[in-house]
Parts: sequence; C-alpha cells; structure tokens
Amino acid sequence: MPDLPPIREVIQRHNLAASKALGQNFLLDEQLLARIAALPGDLAGQQVLEVGPGPGGLTRALLRAGAKVTAIEMDRRCLPALAELGERFPRQLTVIEGDALKINHAELMGGAPFHVLSNLPYNVGTALFVRWLGGEVWPPLWQSLTLMFQREVADRIVANAGEDAYGRLAVLAQWRAEARLAMKVHRSAFTPPPKVMSAIVHVTPATMPEGVSARMLERLTEAAFGQRRKMLRQSLKGVPGALEALANLGIDETRRAETVSVEEFVALAKLLS
Ligand code: SAM
Repeated sequence: MPDLPPIREVIQRHNLAASKALGQNFLLDEQLLARIAALPGDLAGQQVLEVGPGPGGLTRALLRAGAKVTAIEMDRRCLPALAELGERFPRQLTVIEGDALKINHAELMGGAPFHVLSNLPYNVGTALFVRWLGGEVWPPLWQSLTLMFQREVADRIVANAGEDAYGRLAVLAQWRAEARLAMKVHRSAFTPPPKVMSAIVHVTPATMPEGVSARMLERLTEAAFGQRRKMLRQSLKGVPGALEALANLGIDETRRAETVSVEEFVALAKLLS
C-alpha cells in the first residue's frame, strides 16, 4: 500500500482553501474515511463512481480498498492533487473535470455496474439522489449509493409514514430500494465545520413492484406532499382517477399525505398506471 502524506498537507501544498460557493467541507480523518469506504462492503476490483472528490480524502480510502474509481470534480484546483494520488495507484483512478449534474453516469461507467460514494453539497446531493432513484428502468446500473447528507435530509430519506420527516424523498427512496441511515457524522469531522450535523445514507436497489409506473408514483407524491397538510381529497383532486382509486383501495380520503404508507402509494400508483 503506498505511503501517502496526510490530507491536510496535500490541501496546504496545493493551496486548496475551501470554497463556500462549491460547498467544500473536507474530511481529513483517515480512519473515518476508511469506515465510510467500507460501508458498501468489499470494493476490491469493483467500479466506483465518486462525485466531488475534492482533495481526495475519500478517494484514497476507496483506492486503498482496491476499488477502480472514476471521480467527477468540478473544481479544477483539485485536479493536480488527484493526479498525484492517481500516480500512486496505477490504473485505479480516472478523474473527470465537470459538473456531475450534466454528465450521463451510466455512459461514463461504460454501461457496467458500479457503486456510488459521495460527500456533496446539499443541493447537488439531493438533485443527484432524485435522479439516481427515478426513471422507469429498474434495477439501475448502480449497485449501492453511499451518500453524505445534512442530518435533516438523511432523516427525510429513511422516515416512516406518520413521522414529521416523512415525505416525497422517503417514498422515492423506499418504494423499490432499501435505504438506511448508516452513520452519523459530527460537524466537527469536517474542515471547515458546517453549521449542521451530517449523516450517511446507504441505499441498495430492491425489486420493483410490478405494473407501477415510476412517473405515476412521482406525480402522486408530488401532488399529495405539495399540500401535505390538506386532506387527500383536496391534494389529489388534480390527478385523474385518484379519488376513485382511494375509494377502491379503502383509503379514507380525509387522511393527509403524511399518514399514507409507501405500500399505499404504490397500490394507488398501480391502480392508476
Ligand atoms: N470528497 C471530499 C471530502 O469528503 O473531503 C470533498 C467533499 S466537499 C463537501 C464537496 C466536493 O464536491 C467539492 O470538492 C466540490 O468542488 C465538489 N462539487 C460540488 N458541486 C459539484 C458538482 N456539481 N459536480 C462535481 N463536483 C462537485
């Protein structure tokens, strides 16, 4: 295993002062990074997509675990540090400069299965999460998602019906995938520390229920949670056939979206698909 300088030293040598605009909060603790890289299981010889490697803390943990890493980074200041890291792990690291939101990930990974690991700014992380979990094609090419979010967003992803945090993200993450809160990360683990606590969510694809259109499910959750305090008979009024479907399934139309379980949303979408 190549001996590497501490990440703090890499940051100083390459002058990588954290940019607020790019949501940069770096992880420097190598033990913590190794624990994060271990969350998807044994990565030896596996393809990994890392979004936002920054100075390469998580990247080096993934390379040490034997993964073949493709990393997308928007900040070109980080590229020399990542190139240096790539030299220490020949043929294991490919770095792409660009915006992960504008890149077709399946194409980038050559149409082969891959794991995703990422520590991203909140807005980019949520947009990518919605994209990775959406679409009619299932199972996806990705085999697992291991993603850092601010704690409140992580709670929304793993929430159950009836809980305050339950909403669209929970239904999206749970109707054909398994999502769990894998690790809480204290704000002091980051340099500079963000204002809020973070947590890592781990997601794996599950079987997609038959006869359900993902688009219909998205439409239903959008309408239902768009007015989450309203009764279903009001919030679902604009979805053709939804009120009849509620009656057919014996779901009381005076309930609110936050009480409707993932299974009930799936049953509704199936009737309407
Ligand atoms: N992975 C490193 C770590 O854990 O220390 C850096 C994490 S930092 C929170 C987020 C990284 O994502 C930054 O390096 C930032 O430049 C990069 N980034 C932000 N938006 C991006 C985007 N749309 N596409 C690719 N990278 C992005």
